[in-house]
Amino acid sequence: MADDELGAARWKRVVLKLSGQAFSPSGGSGADGASIDGDVVSQLATEIVDARRNLGVDVAVVVGGGNIWRGMTGAGAGMDRAQSDYMGMLATVINALALQDALERLDQPTRVQTAIQMAQVAEPYIRRRAMRHLERGRVVILAGGLGNPFFTTDTPAALRAAEIDADAILKGTHSGIDGVYSADPRSDPAAVKLDELSYMDVLNRGLKVMDPTSITFCMDHALPIVVFDVLHHGNIRRVLVGRERIGTLVR
Ligand code: UDP
Repeated sequence: MADDELGAARWKRVVLKLSGQAFSPSGGSGADGASIDGDVVSQLATEIVDARRNLGVDVAVVVGGGNIWRGMTGAGAGMDRAQSDYMGMLATVINALALQDALERLDQPTRVQTAIQMAQVAEPYIRRRAMRHLERGRVVILAGGLGNPFFTTDTPAALRAAEIDADAILKGTHSGIDGVYSADPRSDPAAVKLDELSYMDVLNRGLKVMDPTSITFCMDHALPIVVFDVLHHGNIRRVLVGRERIGTLVR
């Protein structure tokens, strides 16, 4: 059965950007206050394994850290911005290890590569090695952002996608918002969902898709972006197969 599905996806290789909040949709407000929800991480892992095994798609995951720490949080409270950003980069590694654990419990070979070296827990990011892992059917989790402060993990999602020859970026949202809207649908009832946009639309209208730096980068490298609700069951597969219109396509 699964063999019939191989090649059914519209892209051979993708970067899946998971924001930290996707690891804890309730914002860590559960009884134990945990910032990583094991059930959610397992669900994400199951869907990544489905994409890898059944659709034959190479998946590199760029993980955020916002469920644990964002640089701006500390900077807003008077911390040195760069120091606070390094804390954020380390937070992404925690999420990466949680996702690796969930994938490996499904017997999915996985490698974590980090932009800040920490040899005891992960490989350093090495482009050729990452590509080799993908060719061998491993899921590669890229953590630590770019390894430089003053960025968010949107920029490494775009940069790594170009580096590893990915065909598209799948930008997962997590708060029940299933794409890009003309305004914030949580506060503006007149907001309408936009099915397709150009990079310039996103930049000119200041739409919240990814950081402007990463949008510009994707435009320069003709990398399509699909913004979609990654926590809706089966959506990763739906986006990859592309028969249904899911989320918002930016190209
Ligand atoms: N960060 C950074 N450089 C990078 C990527 C991330 O300094 O290249 C820091 C930054 O402080 C950021 C934090 O790591 O706020 C967590 O990443 P992000 O905010 O992108 O997480 P997400 O919103 O996706 O959960």
